[in-house]
Amino acid sequence: MPLDQKLLDILICPNCRGEVEYIESENVIVCRGECKYRYPVRDDIPVMLIDEAERPAPEAGGGS
Ligand SMILES: [Zn+2]
Repeated sequence: MPLDQKLLDILICPNCRGEVEYIESENVIVCRGECKYRYPVRDDIPVMLIDEAERPAPEAGGGS
C-alpha cells in the first residue's frame, strides 16, 4: 500500500531538516536536502531515525 501523500508532506529529514521523497520501488524515504540519507519504511511506517538511516555512498575520488 502506498504511503499517504499527506503524511509524506509533513515528513522532513531529522538530520538536515530537508524535504524527503518516498521512492515506492525501493520502499525508502530519501532526503532531498543536504544529507541525502535514506530512511527505511517498515510496514508502511516511515522510520525517520538518523540511527536507522542509510548514508549515501561517498563521492568518487576519495583517496585511501
Ligand atoms: Zn537530510
